[in-house]
Amino acid sequence: MARALIVGAGLTGCTLAWRLAQDGVESVLLERDAVAGGLVRSDHMEGVLYEPHGSHIFHTEDKEVWDLANAMTPFNDYRHRVDISIEGKILNWPILLSDIDAQSRGDEIKAELAEREGVDAEARAAAANFEEWCLELMGPILYGRYIQPYTEKQWGRPARELSASWAPRRVSVRWDNDPYLFPDPYQGWPAGPNGYTDLLDGLIASDKVELRTNVDVTLDNLDHHVRETGADLVVLTCPLDVFSGEKFGKLDWRGILVRSVHIPHVDYAQGAMVVNYPSKDVPWIRVHETKHASMQKIPGTVLGFEFTGAPTRYYPIELPENRALNDRYRDYVLEQLGGQPTYFAGRLANYVYIDMDDCMRQALDTAGEILADL
Ligand SMILES: Cc1cc2nc3c(=O)[nH]c(=O)nc-3n(C[C@H](O)[C@H](O)[C@H](O)COP(=O)(O)OP(=O)(O)OC[C@H]3O[C@@H](n4cnc5c(N)ncnc54)[C@H](O)[C@@H]3O)c2cc1C
Repeated sequence: MARALIVGAGLTGCTLAWRLAQDGVESVLLERDAVAGGLVRSDHMEGVLYEPHGSHIFHTEDKEVWDLANAMTPFNDYRHRVDISIEGKILNWPILLSDIDAQSRGDEIKAELAEREGVDAEARAAAANFEEWCLELMGPILYGRYIQPYTEKQWGRPARELSASWAPRRVSVRWDNDPYLFPDPYQGWPAGPNGYTDLLDGLIASDKVELRTNVDVTLDNLDHHVRETGADLVVLTCPLDVFSGEKFGKLDWRGILVRSVHIPHVDYAQGAMVVNYPSKDVPWIRVHETKHASMQKIPGTVLGFEFTGAPTRYYPIELPENRALNDRYRDYVLEQLGGQPTYFAGRLANYVYIDMDDCMRQALDTAGEILADL
């Protein structure tokens, strides 16, 4: 029977192990942390479910992935709404037409929007940078309030230096006043007692999957782990620069830090699961309250204050030189591993931002490739 060694037990590694087990392939998951789950794992503080790495909402068009997730743990029907603090008021994100009157200079904003109603989406998509794209969509007043300070706080660089390519997915003005963030047909949050941890535990519940924690795998010690586990193939879901001892330098990431606090005396502490704070005068950028999504019936709540600029690996910086560096690491790893069958999957090894549904899709596809090769 074939055996896979999977480095990293995040959602990608766990989904891979699940899919391989369906076809009788055994997996050993080696995880550097004390627990599996990576960014997705949920936890409890004083009995209240919360997300140590910030809010995760499952939303997808991929029915196979949605069915798989639901087979591991039931999901509730939570639909994601985000608030934003503008001029000291709590409004909706994305921008709603009905929120314009709550702001100063409402008539000027409406005039700026009216001027842009006719701009065709394709011309806008060709904008040179993120700032131009947003200005063409909403005009300078809304841009200066909702977008520029938030973006620059998030990325630590001027918005005009960022690519317009991902703007259409993240920024919109809702002419129809639809307050929900995601349009996907399948959306929700895990309804079980342990949030996403139930999804992860379900994926690795098979006796064909073995999880070993507190194991930091590197290019130098991989051979030892391959021999010790008797693996026929390797899947890397870890960052390739760290794995390779940063031989060619570090890959650039934008990091955040979430500090969570239990508040015993209230049921809810804010009006939505996520509240954005674009102002540069507020030290955090978002505040998370998982309870809106978990719908847990318990006294007290947990707020997670998110700070930007931390030395953690959350958002890759999509620049050609960073992509080239990741490709270089990939070639180097393959060269060093000689003929050892090796696969790459997940956000870290591929140096991409992917949502959970894409990460599960990638894991299923990579497992399909492995099974075909076997
Ligand atoms: C701020 C933020 C918010 C997000 N919100 C959403 C959301 O709302 N909805 C959504 O669908 N998606 C969201 N995502 C995306 C989601 O977090 C990812 O899709 C998911 O975490 C990808 O899982 P992964 O296994 O590829 O990576 P990770 O979760 O990072 O897991 C990788 C694992 O590998 C381990 N590891 C690393 N190096 C080694 C090594 N050398 N040896 C052994 N183990 C190692 C790590 O400890 C970790 O457990 C968000 C992401 C971020 C950054």
